[in-house]
Amino acid sequence: MNKTKDDIITLPNQHLRERSQKVGVITDEIRNLVADMEMATLDWEDSRSHEVGVALAAIQIDKKLRVVVLRNNFDDKSDRTFHAFINPKITKYEGELVEDYEGCLSVKDIYGKVKRHSKVRISATNLEGKEVRLTAEDFLARVFQHEIDHTNGIVFVDHIKDQPDAFFKLDKDGHLEKLDYDKDIRSNKNLW
Ligand SMILES: [Zn+2]
Repeated sequence: MNKTKDDIITLPNQHLRERSQKVGVITDEIRNLVADMEMATLDWEDSRSHEVGVALAAIQIDKKLRVVVLRNNFDDKSDRTFHAFINPKITKYEGELVEDYEGCLSVKDIYGKVKRHSKVRISATNLEGKEVRLTAEDFLARVFQHEIDHTNGIVFVDHIKDQPDAFFKLDKDGHLEKLDYDKDIRSNKNLW
């Protein structure tokens, strides 16, 4: 118990590229896992001044189960509550493809410009075992696509690996600056 940011696995750990397993019954193990994921996300956030820990998938604390947690309020760090989604699935892609910046707790210091659908329909189970369906738009849609990718062994950099102009890093003031693709990305053994 008491997971911290140090329990979050990062690339090149290849567990991040494995498919997670479906959760059957929601047991104490799953409830404890969700609590661990929330704790690790908040501990990570507390260690960074310019970033918000928006969401996490179970594989990011090295647990290969289809569980994701999303922050209830993306804009207010003082709201430290989450929602858990068990076996989340995209049932329909809608809207248009929109390119925007994305980061990941499992990809150290690298950001990318990733195309995502602006609207998706989601089905999942909540912690009480009830089926939930929702339509997510804009940033929420992006977060769901990113997290559900994790449950399928996909990391955001995998979508843009052949796009030299898509990689950025955060400077010490919290601004994004472009990375040198040949020097920092293509041959970066910590990524692939
Ligand atoms: Zn991520």
